[in-house]
Amino acid sequence: MHTRRPYHVEEAEKYCLEDDLVNLEVLDEDAIIRQLQKRYVDLLIYTYVGDILIALNPFQNLSIYSPQFSRLYHGVKRASNPPHIFASADAAYQCMVTFSKDQCIVISGESGSGKTESAHLIVQHLTFSGKANNQTLREKILQVNSLVEAFGNACTAINDNSSRFGKYLEMMFTPTGAVMGARISEYLLEKSRVIKQAVYIADDAGRVMHDITSKESYRRQFEAIQHCFRIIGFTDKEVHSVYRILAGILNIGNIEFAAISSQHQTDKSEVPNVEALENAASVLCISPEELQEALTSHCVVTRGETIIRANTVDRAADVRDAMSKALYGRLFSWIVNRINTLLQPDKNICSAADGMNVGILDIFGFENFRRNSFEQLCINVANEQIQYYFNQHVFALEQMEYQNEGVDAAPVEYEDNRPLLDMFLQKPLGLLALLDEESRFPQATDQTLVDKFEDNLRCKYFWRPRGVELRFGIQHYAGKVSYDASGVLEKNRDTLPADVIVVLRTSENKLLQQLFSIPLTKTGNLAQTRARVTAASRSLPPHFSAGRAKVDTLEVIRHPEETTNMKRQTVASYFRYSLMDLLSKMVVGQPHFVRCIKPNDDREALKFSQERVLAQLRYTGILETVRIRQQGYSHRILFEEFVKRYYYLAFRAHQIPVASKESCVAILEKSRLDHWVLGKTKVFLKYYHVEQLNLLLREV
Ligand code: ATP
Ligand code: MG
Repeated sequence: MHTRRPYHVEEAEKYCLEDDLVNLEVLDEDAIIRQLQKRYVDLLIYTYVGDILIALNPFQNLSIYSPQFSRLYHGVKRASNPPHIFASADAAYQCMVTFSKDQCIVISGESGSGKTESAHLIVQHLTFSGKANNQTLREKILQVNSLVEAFGNACTAINDNSSRFGKYLEMMFTPTGAVMGARISEYLLEKSRVIKQAVYIADDAGRVMHDITSKESYRRQFEAIQHCFRIIGFTDKEVHSVYRILAGILNIGNIEFAAISSQHQTDKSEVPNVEALENAASVLCISPEELQEALTSHCVVTRGETIIRANTVDRAADVRDAMSKALYGRLFSWIVNRINTLLQPDKNICSAADGMNVGILDIFGFENFRRNSFEQLCINVANEQIQYYFNQHVFALEQMEYQNEGVDAAPVEYEDNRPLLDMFLQKPLGLLALLDEESRFPQATDQTLVDKFEDNLRCKYFWRPRGVELRFGIQHYAGKVSYDASGVLEKNRDTLPADVIVVLRTSENKLLQQLFSIPLTKTGNLAQTRARVTAASRSLPPHFSAGRAKVDTLEVIRHPEETTNMKRQTVASYFRYSLMDLLSKMVVGQPHFVRCIKPNDDREALKFSQERVLAQLRYTGILETVRIRQQGYSHRILFEEFVKRYYYLAFRAHQIPVASKESCVAILEKSRLDHWVLGKTKVFLKYYHVEQLNLLLREV
């Protein structure tokens, strides 16, 4: 087998490299940084902190991800190999099979730190471990990420392939651990990219369309997407419709507006470049006249009478952009839904209720650009929430459990970002609620919005710089970010006039018709979500617990731009719902954490900026994590469950013992394990104890 030099254990010993930071004798920032740096320059990008994996972005291709490596890491004790993302994936898989319990791998880190790559590698290893008899299913699952990323990722100043949506991929397995299907949930696609892009596309639309099909690199990418579509099982007709809608979006971006300024009609607008309008209408299979009308005018119903009013140039441009965004957002959701249908488990193999899953969370990382707007705000709040979830699991819940069980463990201090989350999510005076309130006033402006924030958010996490009217700053867990409020209200309202929906519904393109005939809602999941949240609310902040009298986030949720209903859904409230939905999925499973770290801002291989790494270690609380992992027990199993699972190790098959403390001790002693602890109702184990027990079990 081809093994890289640094992956020889002797080599690692020579440099005194420690695979697990928990084993370091001196435990301070300096020691941790030096350790990570020494490992990184030796291309040992992975390091453990107990059961948590730290992954440094290598910014180069490493040959450690072949199927041989998957084999090496499958079903073995973690200490038998150097740290690896496959080992984390395998740990989740083993836990799922052993405890028949759903698992959840949470990948976090700032933009460009390697989350999406890690997610791919995890899927790769899980498809290897959960050997499906069905070769095509495996191939399909491997294409899912590539396909959604082709539509939902984009180039940013930080990352050429930056995720512009959050993704939770659940891989479903049979009770014996064979992969049987997959399901994706997408969160908060950043739709505004599609209109910003339109600005440069407008330079030469023909060129872009031509490029896609002629330039070598584009053509290769295009063929790769074609391949994904085909493997996953989209029909040619569907794919064709998708391309038409994409072409429609590109062409809509080219439509311009000019004011008609006759004496009385200064407010009217018209389209000077009719060709763009006709192209858009033609690919979308709608009438160009009706499209023009929907863009340049709108219907108002007053006292039962319908009046048609002209749109100003600005308003027409807004309608155009709203249309592009809605097309893109709904197309994306449709692709995701379609993938889910094509990858759902075959009922003849196993009913979904008997199955188990491993969920993999890969969201957009924390962002701090020179100019930060509403999109960055949402992205950063989502990251704030994930950090809170991490803290809850690694610190709060663990310490609470020691207390409840009477286990002696010194408490570890950590930075709790709960007050920040409260500042964002509380009702009625949290930032998002204030934003929603302001969005309801037609006369509100971005200026009144910032004033409102300033009046109400009186805490150390919020500030307003002097002299810059539309700015506000937030002290996030991961650093200070200065936000620009211009356009925030409009982005939050995200309205799509009914006139546009009506025209799009007339399309002869069946897919397009479908996208706009049924409002894409998430209400179908509402009851399920509510049940999940109630069951698992202890891990959620109170804003999300369904047991409270007023569950604001469980209002009926529609796609934000849907305005045909009585009450308009804003992006902020949709966002809150999405976050809750995501968390409710995550809290059901046993979590595993992968912390991605970006070693430098220049995307250079082997370059390790101590300053940048230290900052990330600090704000993610790695030092504290090392401490708690050193003294903590990551597995806490009820006596009953423990005895049921492992009694073979100390008793005869027919001799089922009582689920008592004594039986647990008998099993643990017979297995020759040290350093475990017993609480009032649970056995407290380190991750390596569980590994050892499982190995012994297999030998029996
Ligand atoms: P965002 O939050 O912007 O989506 P991200 O954390 O998902 O960022 P990735 O897109 O996974 O970041 O990684 C950025 C780039 O770093 C990749 O395009 C790739 O070039 C490189 N990279 C990351 N991880 C690896 C790896 N394990 N091996 C090789 N290159 C990697
Ligand atoms: Mg990503």
